[in-house]
Amino acid sequence: MKIDILTIFPDFFRGPLDHGIVRRAREAGLAAIEIHDLRAFAHDRHRTVDDRPFGGGEGMVLKPEPIFECIEGLNIPSRTERLAPGAKQSVVLLSAQGQRFDQRIAEELATLERIVLICGRYEGVDERVGQHLADRELSIGDYVLSGGELGAAVILDTVTRLIPGAVGNEASTRQESFTVTQAVEAGGANSTCASGGLLDYPHYTRPADFRGLQVPEVLVSGNHEEIRRWRRRTALEKTLRNRPDLLEAAALGAEDKELLARITGKEN
Ligand code: SAM
Repeated sequence: MKIDILTIFPDFFRGPLDHGIVRRAREAGLAAIEIHDLRAFAHDRHRTVDDRPFGGGEGMVLKPEPIFECIEGLNIPSRTERLAPGAKQSVVLLSAQGQRFDQRIAEELATLERIVLICGRYEGVDERVGQHLADRELSIGDYVLSGGELGAAVILDTVTRLIPGAVGNEASTRQESFTVTQAVEAGGANSTCASGGLLDYPHYTRPADFRGLQVPEVLVSGNHEEIRRWRRRTALEKTLRNRPDLLEAAALGAEDKELLARITGKEN
């Protein structure tokens, strides 16, 4: 199996790669793991990989160009091919808003020939990466990490030990916690909550037009009230789509309830 990791902190992986089962799997040629420094794909002398968010707000957002360009150089099938049934490659974005990673997903990933893990940083990754480049978003739990590197290390470790031959006594991995041996249950999508118990809204940064993919017009309108409403609505939509269970406990105001009714088509 080949595992590629995209990060702005390549040295982070020295530890996870150089110990135990992962190290043995690499040495035995069972897992080929390559770390890609996203700053190598920046185009300015400061090797800039982040920028301010459109629409204003705190923090910085990882730009789309270095991530797209790095993945385009990996010689992997197109996203359409990767999303087709039976595909053997997958591009994963580490995100607190993703589907929750569990043993069932680890087993699914371990059947692939290649997985690519994209590590976010700052306030997150430009939304176009999740929408148009990655095949899926995975979270390692309902909490917010400073970056995707720890999550990538968790997935790397969990999947590598499922590669046949990686663990000395293979039967032991079949008996471990969480291993699904009978029917595979339908897994729920999980992630972390932000702003009153909802998932975060989508983030975008420059360029406003990236390969024809436009930033939503409202974010460049300068109308702060419309931006606020757009963010609340998209956060509600994403929560409804990925973690409807969070809505029950979320602190929803009258405006939220009205937006939600409109989204679900249950308005009076
Ligand atoms: N603004 C984001 C939110 O509220 O969901 C949090 C961004 S976090 C500070 C920066 C990066 O860390 C994310 O882009 C993601 O790659 C990674 N990250 C944070 N929490 C994670 C988790 N629970 N699982 C996987 N990756 C995580």
